[in-house]
Amino acid sequence: MELELLYEGKAKKVYQSSMNENHLILSYKNDATAFNGEKKAQFTGKGRLNNEISSILFKALEERGIESHFIKQLDSITQMVQKTDIIPLEVVIRNIATGSITKRLAIPEKSPFEPALVELFYKNDELGDPLINDEEAIYLTNLTVENLNEIKEKARSINQVLTEIFATIGVRLIDFKLEFGRNQDGEIILSDEISPDTCRLWDMNTNEKLDKDVFRQGTGDLITVYEEILNRLEEQL
Ligand code: UDP
Repeated sequence: MELELLYEGKAKKVYQSSMNENHLILSYKNDATAFNGEKKAQFTGKGRLNNEISSILFKALEERGIESHFIKQLDSITQMVQKTDIIPLEVVIRNIATGSITKRLAIPEKSPFEPALVELFYKNDELGDPLINDEEAIYLTNLTVENLNEIKEKARSINQVLTEIFATIGVRLIDFKLEFGRNQDGEIILSDEISPDTCRLWDMNTNEKLDKDVFRQGTGDLITVYEEILNRLEEQL
């Protein structure tokens, strides 16, 4: 049966489930984009790798008490999730300085952040996802101060759990981006994906980059490093 396409983003297509009004089907694409869509390429197998990795991580989070929109993996490139209204914020958590913050604030590369930094960006392609403060986030969304604090607390707990999970596979979680949505009961839950597209992952021994930076910077083969992450997760979890 033909599913109704609700939305097509840079990395995923979102379909309405034909079985349940409150469920969506996410289909992971092979497209990779960087620099707000200026750099683009297709990688055969990327959709499968991100779907598998994201499914493993959402399951591992659930086992450790962190709820998300994830319901189940359906096939190699799709998963079933709870329908949420996505809150237009990119919540970035930083354990180690790299990427945009090193340029913006002249912080030396690899400086540790203890406690981790939580930053908010307004999810808006036309504006290039600008960094915003808490008051601007509340103004731009329908969140209360309490809702925003809840999101930041959740992001910190997720960071703790993910840092531990990645440590078991010899990978340091440098930074990552989360998105949250409101489900049909009005609860704020973790949504979107958690994958090497949205995390910076460095090998603990060699500092080799095992994430989308190899594409952003043209320093390695995306599929090879994403496969490395999936293989290690499958062996360990
Ligand atoms: N990130 C993301 N989507 C975005 C922007 C950032 O998933 O649109 C992730 C990125 O992979 C990294 C973290 O958020 O793990 C912090 O990214 P940063 O702000 O340093 O941006 P960049 O240097 O990639 O422009």
